[in-house]
Order: sequence, then C-alpha cells, then structure tokens
Amino acid sequence: MIKLKTLEQIELIRESALIVSKTLGMIADEIRPGITTIELDKMAETFIRDHDAEPGFLGLYDFPNTLCVSPNEQIVHGIPNDIPLNDGDILSVDCGVLKNGFYGDHAYTFEVGEVLPETKRLLEVTKKSLYVGISNFKLGNRVGDLGFSIQKYAEKNGYGVVRELVGHGLGKKMHEDPEIPNYGKSGTGKKFKNGMVIAIEPMINQGSKEIQKLNDGWTILTKDNKPSAHFEHNVALMDGKPQLLSTFKYIYESIGIDSKEEKPFTIN
Ligand code: MG
Ligand code: MG
Repeated sequence: MIKLKTLEQIELIRESALIVSKTLGMIADEIRPGITTIELDKMAETFIRDHDAEPGFLGLYDFPNTLCVSPNEQIVHGIPNDIPLNDGDILSVDCGVLKNGFYGDHAYTFEVGEVLPETKRLLEVTKKSLYVGISNFKLGNRVGDLGFSIQKYAEKNGYGVVRELVGHGLGKKMHEDPEIPNYGKSGTGKKFKNGMVIAIEPMINQGSKEIQKLNDGWTILTKDNKPSAHFEHNVALMDGKPQLLSTFKYIYESIGIDSKEEKPFTIN
C-alpha cells in the first residue's frame, strides 16, 4: 500500500535526507587513493550520530555497516573493508539516515583520482538518467513512464539497466511501496499522486545488464565485471511536480563543481 505523506512528514523526510546529503559531502572530501572504505564508514557513522540521527542501514536486514560502498564492477550493497582505494577507481556510496522516525536514503558514484574517459561517461550518463527519471515523476504519469524514461536514456547510450534492484517509496520505512524500477513500459503501473515520496536510483552498467552476487550474501556486481554506476535522490511529488528532498550540493562544494542540475526540481 502506498502511504501518501503530509507536508509535515515530507519536511521530516527532507531533514533525514539532508543529513545523508551532508554525509556524502563529507565523504567527497575524504575520498582519495589510499583511503579504505572502512575508514569512510566510520567517519560517516560518527558524522550521522553527531547530527542526532541514526545510521539507516546499520542493522537493517542485518547489514553490518553505515555505508554501502561498491567500487568499480560492484553495483550496490558492497560491505566496507580495509582494502585501499586505487587511482582510477570509481566508488558508489549509498547512505541511509533515520531521524524523527523517517528515513533518508541516497547515493553518489565518486571518482577516485584520475578516471578513464569511458568511465567518466558512464557516471555522466547514469546521473543524467536519474534526472530524466525525476522529471517524469509528475502528476499524470505512472511508475512505468518513469522507468521507461530511464531505460530509454541509458540504453540509447549503449549501457545495461539492472533489473533485479529498483527504487522505492520512502518514509517511516526505508523501503515502502511502490517499487520504482529503472525500466518499464509507458502508461503502465501505479499512478503518481501528490504526497508520494520516492527514492529514484538508476543502477547502470557499462556492459550487459546481467548481475552476479558475491558469497558474502550482500555484494551485487556485474556479471561481465565491467564498471557500474549508481546515483540516487529522494523526491516528493508536490503540486503535481517533483521536489528534491536530497541534494548533491555538498558533494559539489567539496569537489569544486558548479552545477545547476537540481534547479528545476528545487523550490526557491
Ligand atoms: Mg540507497
Ligand atoms: Mg534506495
């Protein structure tokens, strides 16, 4: 069942989402060749608790850490470890926060040092596909319209769209109805309504869409071992239009990017 949110509840989700945004901004400042993902994880946990919030992933479905960290061919759900990052890696960092009974949950794929041009292109296209999806989260559209728009954009660019993992409703639970696939058929699925809050999160592979799972029970990676990227935002449907509750602005402040990509989906 889809739980529509009141304006007050949307503001509480925004508060949790913004703590995730700031955590990712802090992480952006720390990511470099030589640092380990367990170091990043500890910093994130401390940062979140210092903001009077709880790590949203820690213990959820028995996940052991604060961050999901997925380098290179890993897609999502990677577990932090003590292996140093290398120059030329990419690292997808997914983070959840629980505060005032509501979750925030979003993700960004970072470049570590100097990354190959074709890998940069994967990151650019995946992030763009997220905004294509967000622009289709509007009154009059259905879940299938959003998924179709992401799939079309990614496949047009020659990439594989992961099928097994999807976006989701967000609120008092990390994963609420409806599921938000990054693929689909236009005109199908549940209708979008004002008060819906969802996490849109394309997972896009440089090669084929096929996946495999490590025997740690968590890590999802590409079957062909080519890189994969993951970007996620939390979005509310208000007055018929998508409004971002999360932001990448703290990341951009850290790495010195001037971006207007969020402007169409932000009040003020
Ligand atoms: Mg996430
Ligand atoms: Mg999510």
